[in-house]
Amino acid sequence: MKQGIYVHIPFCHRKCGYCDFNSYAGMDALIEPFIEALHREIEASPYAGERFDTVFFGGGTPTVLSGDALAGILEHLTQQFDLASNAEITCEANPGSVTLQQLQVMRRAGFNRLSLGVQSFHLDELRRMDRIHTPEEVVRSVEWARTAGFTNLNLDLIFALPQQTIEGWEANLRKAIALQPEHLALYALMLEPNTRFYHLYQKGKLSLPDDETQVAMFRLAQRLAAEAGYRQYEISNYAQAGYECQHNLIYWRNEPYLGFGPGAVSYMGGKRWTNIKHPREYIRRVMAGESLEFEWERLTGWDAVAETLMLGLRLLEGVDLETLEQRFSLPVRTHYAKTIDALVQRGWLEREGKTIRLTQEGLLWHSEVAMAFFEK
Ligand code: SF4
Repeated sequence: MKQGIYVHIPFCHRKCGYCDFNSYAGMDALIEPFIEALHREIEASPYAGERFDTVFFGGGTPTVLSGDALAGILEHLTQQFDLASNAEITCEANPGSVTLQQLQVMRRAGFNRLSLGVQSFHLDELRRMDRIHTPEEVVRSVEWARTAGFTNLNLDLIFALPQQTIEGWEANLRKAIALQPEHLALYALMLEPNTRFYHLYQKGKLSLPDDETQVAMFRLAQRLAAEAGYRQYEISNYAQAGYECQHNLIYWRNEPYLGFGPGAVSYMGGKRWTNIKHPREYIRRVMAGESLEFEWERLTGWDAVAETLMLGLRLLEGVDLETLEQRFSLPVRTHYAKTIDALVQRGWLEREGKTIRLTQEGLLWHSEVAMAFFEK
């Protein structure tokens, strides 16, 4: 099994209208103390010396930190853990907050994958989302990433945005593809409680594409990505051959990962825990040598199996049930025989030997399929 490291940088220049991530604007004064605390947390890790295959800096907006600060954190991880020589090392970046010099420093430090939060190429859509960048800045940051030597680039786009039309979405897709990234992450907008979008929606002030249009947008993404040579390997993720995101594959295969930073989640040895979320309390606890654990659970038995199925079925390769039985020493196929039959009948799942996977129709119903495995 592979193992990954996640580092959470919780700062952003501005909070976006749809975002419920653990991210904060207007806290620049905490950046320096946060960096120090993060180094201490890494230093105190009981997993020192363990082997890891991927590193992912996410947020928030990691590129709010300087190239040197990001390089310093990566260097510390390299000293503390046994990172594979071919480790995939990703940093998320905001097109409005990167510089060429920063990207060069990061590339030299060992970051080898960049994930740009593009979201849209329409200025009105970007502004509606409260994103700080312009479409021109996206093109410029892609050029800078290439100049800095990044040969593995992901672009994130969101569809089903307020007032978005199918034509507008098509233009976004075509512009993203024209930039020739190795990877595309194409997510439908989710309305999360406690976001500005959610409150607007509740007041009837957010006009979203209807379900039929959303499905058409998803199918359009599948078609255009395929025509351009990207393989859909997860419900929302597409890659050129060999550029699937190794770090996210660890999550989808329910393999172990270790998280650092406020709100970071870890899953090691069957235990899953979350760090305290607020950066100020995180810094205080690290400096006081107190536990960072905010909540935890032990994933065992059928809960662990259902969780692995829920995550694994997001992958188009599906889940090998025999491997699952061996991993958890449980009779998965007998236990779920009726559930699987019903989902196959419904047209959402298909079987191939020992493997089950979502059908094209099932890709639209992942949550319902996952629920069926938890209900059993
Ligand atoms: S930049 Fe990303 S993490 Fe920050 S507020 Fe916007 S969506 Fe959230």
